Amino acid sequence: MKVKLLNFTPKPDLTVYLAARVCYSKVGIEELEEEISDERVKKLIRKVVMSGHHSVLEHAYFTFGVEGVSRVTTHQLVRHRIASYSQQSLRWVDAKDMEVVVPPSILERPEALMLFNEAIEKTREVYDKLLRIGVPKEDARFVIPQGISSKIVFSMNARELHHFFRLRLCTRAQWEIRELARLVLAEVRKVAPIIFEKVGPPCVMEGKCFEEKPCDSPPSL
Ligand SMILES: Cc1cc2nc3c(=O)[nH]c(=O)nc-3n(C[C@H](O)[C@H](O)[C@H](O)COP(=O)(O)OP(=O)(O)OC[C@H]3O[C@@H](n4cnc5c(N)ncnc54)[C@H](O)[C@@H]3O)c2cc1C
Repeated sequence: MKVKLLNFTPKPDLTVYLAARVCYSKVGIEELEEEISDERVKKLIRKVVMSGHHSVLEHAYFTFGVEGVSRVTTHQLVRHRIASYSQQSLRWVDAKDMEVVVPPSILERPEALMLFNEAIEKTREVYDKLLRIGVPKEDARFVIPQGISSKIVFSMNARELHHFFRLRLCTRAQWEIRELARLVLAEVRKVAPIIFEKVGPPCVMEGKCFEEKPCDSPPSL
């Protein structure tokens, strides 16, 4: 799986700081810009993140390109509604050379891997035959497995990213979307280290777990 940050609001930490600062200050915008210091930016952003004053995080946007991820996972990703998505279409792009994401639990068991590969091979054959006898791509794709590797571009603001990390970095989340969340976090931390300094599931953020079956150890983030 590859995740690349394609674009983002310039100076995201500073943008969020100014948005938060304007809420609590009498002075004009230009004066606010003059009084900026790293310490102030850190202190205020930490405060808004922990206090839940999260609307100010909406001013920072991030756009990602993702490839090598299964449709199992893109389906989970697009459930996050406060975002924009553009995904490779199997109505237009044929899946003849489809690559498939193999889950580790299958990869590490030779017998499971053999069964998996057989099923994928059979699916490839059927898909190719359907196209050859004139079935359009948009219908032939109905036989394609959910594990098919896909490409997607998505944009989220920092508030939704915090929410996404809260749900998807939890060890109870499915492994592939957790991996996606980890890679997305690594990308945004490069450009907005303060906004994303502290993120994660409730055990990390509040020291509490609300899962029915808590795990043994919180993720290290
Ligand atoms: C471990 C795990 C297991 C899951 N299992 C299942 C499952 O079995 N079946 C299933 O269908 N889904 C499942 N999901 C998906 C889950 O139900 C959500 O659809 C997904 O996590 C998106 O999160 P969200 O709805 O909080 O918010 P987002 O869509 O990311 O929106 C962010 C926030 O905006 C607000 N919001 C957005 N839209 C509305 C709205 N229309 N009305 C009011 N408020 C809104 C809410 O406060 C929401 O939390 C699972 C998720 C996780 C993390």
